[in-house]
Amino acid sequence: MLKGAVKGVVGDVFDINTVEKSLTELLSLVRKKVTEGIFQQIDVTHMECKVCGSKMENRGYVSRKIKGLADYEIKMRSFYCAKCGRYERPLEEIIGNSGRNTLEVKEAMILLGQRIPFEEASFCMEKLLKVSVSYESIRELVEDIGETISKEEVELVANEIDANGYVKDWKDGKAVNDVAYLELDGSMVQTREEGWKEVRVGVIFAQKDRLEVDKNHNEVFRKKYFSVFNDDNKSLEAFKNRTTLEAHNFGFHNYVKPVIVGDGAPWIWDYASTSHPYAIQILDY
Ligand SMILES: [Zn+2]
Repeated sequence: MLKGAVKGVVGDVFDINTVEKSLTELLSLVRKKVTEGIFQQIDVTHMECKVCGSKMENRGYVSRKIKGLADYEIKMRSFYCAKCGRYERPLEEIIGNSGRNTLEVKEAMILLGQRIPFEEASFCMEKLLKVSVSYESIRELVEDIGETISKEEVELVANEIDANGYVKDWKDGKAVNDVAYLELDGSMVQTREEGWKEVRVGVIFAQKDRLEVDKNHNEVFRKKYFSVFNDDNKSLEAFKNRTTLEAHNFGFHNYVKPVIVGDGAPWIWDYASTSHPYAIQILDY
């Protein structure tokens, strides 16, 4: 049946690229129709009120739009209890998707949205998945998840720090026989929407991960950068939390020689002395 349909679309003369494109369009249509059909078929035809038990009136259909690998428009029956004055749409629960996008689409939005600019993510989704999602929706979803992660991190940091601000599990019996470096600095970066902005940056790595590329050059081949924009009076706290978390994940305090390198900015040494008092401080003047 599909073979016939594709031939009907592409005509008598065609190549593989034309066939592939037509089949993709056709399959997308099949996906939409089959999905909508499945849910319409399993919708409840009559029901009783959960509260009072009386028979509910069928008030016809309402539609619900969900963006997935196709633009679904699912019609669902709406029931009304005249006694209680309440509505119910049983299919809603069966569909099991409270948002505007299916899981497949959400995963793609997050995967691309955290790696490339939102506009490009939107373009790539259209190009690769044939799904059109606005860059605003991608931004909203990614930033929402970012906020959740950041809240979880704040809790995690709070659990790692004792009342004096020290990392809890730091002991004198150090395990890793190497030097770990934590470097902190402020910098300016050019942003897409707001021009030049101040940002706090950190990098963390171990001495053993330094590699001699040639006799004049060394490279740190394993390192982690992290940064927080200096937007308001909460930014420094956010950056300190980020640094503590990165240091903890890296196991900074488990190295025989933990070293903090920074310029003369007071916040760096205030943070170093409070949160990593055991670390060697090197002033890079
Ligand atoms: Zn009722």
